[in-house]
Amino acid sequence: MAVRTPFIAGNWKMNLDHLQAVAFVQKLHWTLKEAGHEVGSVEVGLFPPFTDIRTVQTLLDADKIPFSLGGQDLSMKDSGAYTGEISGAFLKKLDCGYVIIGHSERRDYHAETDEVVSAKVQAALRHGLTPVICVGETAADLEEFGASAVPVGQLRVALEGVPSAADIVVAYEPVWAIGSGQAATPEQAQDVCAKLREVIVDVLGADAGERTRVLYGGSVKSGNIASYMREPDVDGALVGGASLVVDEFAAIVRYQKHVGV
Ligand code: PEP
Repeated sequence: MAVRTPFIAGNWKMNLDHLQAVAFVQKLHWTLKEAGHEVGSVEVGLFPPFTDIRTVQTLLDADKIPFSLGGQDLSMKDSGAYTGEISGAFLKKLDCGYVIIGHSERRDYHAETDEVVSAKVQAALRHGLTPVICVGETAADLEEFGASAVPVGQLRVALEGVPSAADIVVAYEPVWAIGSGQAATPEQAQDVCAKLREVIVDVLGADAGERTRVLYGGSVKSGNIASYMREPDVDGALVGGASLVVDEFAAIVRYQKHVGV
């Protein structure tokens, strides 16, 4: 069985300017080092606002800080007259390995459809970025269709045209759990993550199903992360609010030290 390195990803959203980002990254690095965190046991990913990325990249490079870097979105286009858009090529040039695609806030506030998400996944892959494909149901979807139907459908569209060998990450983020403090139970997360893995196997094949990391996101905190990470199909977490507090995020990264894991 392929070993999937756990991935703890912090989506800062529209928080922390580039100066605050420097202080945050230095403190996070120092906190993990002081705690004796074993680098490599967990991949730590940071997803700052676009305006911070160059600064964070320079800091990670200069101080040899082993965090992965990613953008929170990208354009489906590669270049041209698209005011305000950011090309995947630019993210790649800044050493970003990842890009979040289809976060529920983009789907909701920017009317991103499944087709837009799919085009952005293709753009990410064209530029050698690993898309972190976010899927999840709203509270209304949950009531009408149950937990897995909507995220499964979203993932099927996002994976159209993706080659079997592509590196992707999938994040199951029930919209009702994001920023609400009302996290899914570990059993709920496991159930949908397992169904998403079945989609990966069905569309991209068994190898992709074995190696692809499926994350849970939605009100993840240091107090509940270990319960998700015990589940066989949950390979990490996409963390919003708690990724902005150094000690809390560091404790999430160090979930293996929590009792019972
Ligand atoms: C998110 O927005 O991706 C998220 C999971 O947020 P939070 O952790 O704050 O619920």
